[in-house]
This record gives sequence, structure tokens and C-alpha cells, in this order.
Amino acid sequence: MFLRATGPALFPAARGLSTRASQVLSSLGINHAEPVPGVYDGQWRGSGEHLVSVCPATGEELARVVSASPEELHTTLDKAREAYKSFRLVPAPRRGEVLRQIREAIAAKKADLGALVSLEMGKIRSEGAGEVQEIVDILDYGVGLSRMMNGRVVASERPGHSILEIPNPLGVVAVLSAFNFPVAVYGWNLALSFAAGNATIWKPSQTTPLCSIALTKIISEVLERNELPGVLAALVTGAKDVGSAIVESEYVDMVSFTGSEAVGRQVAKTVQSRFGKVLLELGGNNASIIMPDADLSLAVPAVFFGAVGTAGQRCTSTRRLYLHRTIAPEVLSRLETLYASVPPKMGDPLLENTLLGPLHNENAVQIYERALETHKAQHAEILTSSGRYTQLAEGNFVLPVIAVPKHADPGLAGSMWSTETFAPILSVAVFDELEQAIEWNNAVPQGLSSSLWTRDVRHIGQWLGPAGSDTGIVNVNVGTSGAEIGAAFGGNKSTGWGRESGGDAWKQYVRWSAATINFSDAAPLAQGVSFAP
Ligand code: NAD
Repeated sequence: MFLRATGPALFPAARGLSTRASQVLSSLGINHAEPVPGVYDGQWRGSGEHLVSVCPATGEELARVVSASPEELHTTLDKAREAYKSFRLVPAPRRGEVLRQIREAIAAKKADLGALVSLEMGKIRSEGAGEVQEIVDILDYGVGLSRMMNGRVVASERPGHSILEIPNPLGVVAVLSAFNFPVAVYGWNLALSFAAGNATIWKPSQTTPLCSIALTKIISEVLERNELPGVLAALVTGAKDVGSAIVESEYVDMVSFTGSEAVGRQVAKTVQSRFGKVLLELGGNNASIIMPDADLSLAVPAVFFGAVGTAGQRCTSTRRLYLHRTIAPEVLSRLETLYASVPPKMGDPLLENTLLGPLHNENAVQIYERALETHKAQHAEILTSSGRYTQLAEGNFVLPVIAVPKHADPGLAGSMWSTETFAPILSVAVFDELEQAIEWNNAVPQGLSSSLWTRDVRHIGQWLGPAGSDTGIVNVNVGTSGAEIGAAFGGNKSTGWGRESGGDAWKQYVRWSAATINFSDAAPLAQGVSFAP
């Protein structure tokens, strides 16, 4: 693991850093020469264990971050609760105006923040910038939402009565996020939570603390300028002990958790046991299905991006590919050519021409290697080069792989089809009928994203209908990865049923009341019930 929790004594007071890294950090006001405070509750502080941020492409230590101690976490939660009590009274459009200013401040730093995402997480530069753009987009959405969080007037069966459904602020919302989207997932949550009038507290992945610090610095300056308590967008960095203390806290009204199925299961049980609200965005195991009438000039590059892009480290990455028997040889041959072109374009994610960056850490490389071994042990055919990319030995670089398992049924014991391997390994199977491919698509525990490639409207109807794909994102002639913010984002089944971002997702960040109001001079009971003494 690249997270190392250590005492301060092991570190020299100042370290040298490559020019490449120090330019990115200093553009965002991060002084890497000193331990960086990793807690923001209106003031920057930190006295817990040290987290070491490591560049996945070079193995270079970027900075040390001082995480939250248990006391600092409790103080932050306390302050957030207090700040919420006044913030809930601020009119929503006024909250929207602050979101607009945050949007402007982040947009002005898009290139620098995107570069930091590449440096610390490992995704390529255009994806790092794209992630920041996603925050800008959802903040635009949050500004509009602040004037549109409408309740409803419902017809009452009783004369002279009205029923209102009223959204009010919820309280303190905690956002626990994963390493692979180190800024955007928080942005999705903050925009809705802030517009709704809540205090938001962020516990980012322990391996991407610098991204969270840089983003919080930008946001905090806007809050301070508006004389709002900074703790309304609080930050507590730390490892899983900090995460579990947040999840257990009665001070937290809703936990929005993005991460693995294994941790999500624990988080869900804990929050449920104290009757808190929980929103889960967990692992995906996403399939693309290509029909004989598909436009292969669109489908093949989309599968290539879905499976290889971000080194297979998106929750929506394409992990399974189902090919109609008649086009399977052609698709595989085109994919093999594309895969063979990758190694010369692997390298530093900060460089413009890099197509494929590293895996995030050594642990991820080991997961990739174990998955490859299992594929081989189960007699899968490996169509590409595979393994660690030794030409770039200092980073966590691996070759993207296409595997054709011997059996296609995800239901078979020990099947590689049914687990999410967070690495660039694409498993392929051949089908004869669309029904069979849809059955395989639906036969895994996860239910995040899926895509069908066809020009036949009858197949589209089948795919989108009651017997179609059971995932939360169901695309047609669009790959599995790369969603826009306008629709609600999330998955079904073991992906957790959560929805974030657009659509009706905001409705989870408020406290709903149904209010029946009597404007008449009588007080009839509903359903004609009579209770006369
Ligand atoms: P992870 O589950 O290891 O960690 C996620 C977060 O949980 C981190 O902040 C971590 O510190 C915290 N955490 C760890 N143990 C905890 C505990 N016991 N209690 C509370 N918090 C704890 O996930 P990861 O490796 O950072 O991210 C990869 C996973 O996230 C993949 O499975 C991916 O599919 C998933 N993901 C899902 C979505 C989605 O929208 N569905 C988006 C991004 C990532």
C-alpha cells in the first residue's frame, strides 16, 4: 500500500521534489516542504497520523499530510452542526449565489487542479481536467437548483384542506469518497448538499489527500469572502478509522459513500443501525454488447476507451464485452491492433501525449496480477501482451489485457465474470442471441452501467424495457463510461442503489415533510372516519 501512516520523526523537515511535481503543488498553494494540515473546520489544522501522498507514475513522495485526530474530528462535527443551524435559514437562492462564486473560483483553477488529479491519482491530463469540468458543471446545476428545489401541493379529499410536500435542509452530510475520482465525487455531493442548506464534511481517500486539500482551499476562500463559516465545507483527511468514526456519528444525518462493495456493505449496516440516511455508490462490473448491425467504427473505439482509459479504474469502466458470433473476429482483430498501439503511449500522465497512465498503487498492481493468474489458471485465452510494464519500472504501470475465459456463464463458481477487478482487464464472450447476452449482462451482482451497440430499433426496445438491462445506466451506441451530470448517476444491486448528481438526486439531501393544512371551519377526519363522542 502506498499509504504510510507514520510519526513525524521519520521525515526530514524539508525534502526535494521534482520540478514537475513542485510546480503543480505550488500553483495550488500547497507547501510540500512542511507537513500539510489535512483538516479544515474554518481553520487549517491537523494533529493525527501522517499520510504520505505518493505519485503513482514515479513513486515520488509528493507531500506529508497531517490527518484528523479523533478530537479534531469530533470538534469538526460539532462545529458543522452549529453552522448548519444558521445556514439552514439562509435563503436557497442566496446559497446558490455562493455556489456560483465557488464555480467561478474552481473554473479559474481548472488546469492546475486537473494537473494535481493527474499527479496524485494517475489519470491522464485530459481526464484530470475533465474531472474538474464535471465539478464546474454540477455547480452550474446547483446554482439553478437553488431556485428550483420545489415541493408540491397535493389535492386533499377533505373540503377546505390542502396538503403540501415541503423540502427543508437535512443537517450534516458526510461525503466519503474513493481514490479514482478524487475531486468530482465530492463536487457532485457538495453542489446538491450546499444548495439544500446542509453542512457538508468530506473524508476523501487516504491516498489522494492533496486533491482534497487543494479543492477545499479554493472553496474555503469563497466561504470566507461571503462571511460564511468555513466548516460548511469541512475537510477531515484520514484513513479508515476516521471514516468509520464519521459513519458511526449520530451528528451525521446522511452518509454519501463512494467506494468498494466490501466497505460499502459495512458502512450501510452501521448507518442503518442508527437509522441515519445512506447513499451508496459502489463497484461496477460493466458490459458492452455488440450486435451484428452495429457501426463498428463507433463501437470499437468506445470499448477501447471504456476498458483501457483511466487504466480501467473507473467505476463505469468496460470490464465485459459480449460479441455477436458474426462480428466477433472482426471486433477482436480491431481491438488487438488498438491494444498493441498502447505501450509507446504509456507514461507520465502529465504529458499531453500520454494515453495510459499507471494504476494508483502497488496494491492495485497486485490485484491485477492475481486476476491474470486466475484467468490463466482457468484456461482463459489471453489475446494481448500482459503484466507489469517494466520499461516504466518506477511507477505502477501495467499492460491492458483482453482475455477470453473458457466459460461465459457468470453464475459458475469462481467465475472471473462476477467480480470487479479495478484494472484494465477486459473479458470477452461470444453470443448468438441478444437474449443470451442480456442474461449474462444481468447475471452479475453489480448493476452500474451497460451499453448496447445496434442500429435496430427493436433491439433498443428490448434493451431498455422490462426484460432488458438491469443496470442504473443503460446506454445505446454510447460506451459504459463517461456520464454527464444532468441525469441521476448511480447503480442498482450491489452497486448500492444510490443516485447522485442530476435528475431527482437532490431529493435525498433534504428532509421531506407532508403538511396537511385546514383552511375551513370544520375538522373532518380522512377516509370518512367518524369519532363522535
Ligand atoms: P474503498 O472502499 O477502499 O475506500 C473508499 C473510502 O472509504 C475511502 O475514503 C476510505 O478511506 C474509506 N474507508 C475505508 N474503510 C472504511 C471503513 N471501514 N469505514 C468507513 N470508511 C472507510 O474504495 P477505493 O479503493 O478508494 O475506490 C475504488 C472503488 O470505488 C471501486 O470499487 C469503484 O468501483 C468504486 N467507485 C464507485 C463509484 C460509483 O459511483 N459507483 C465511483 C467511484 C468509485
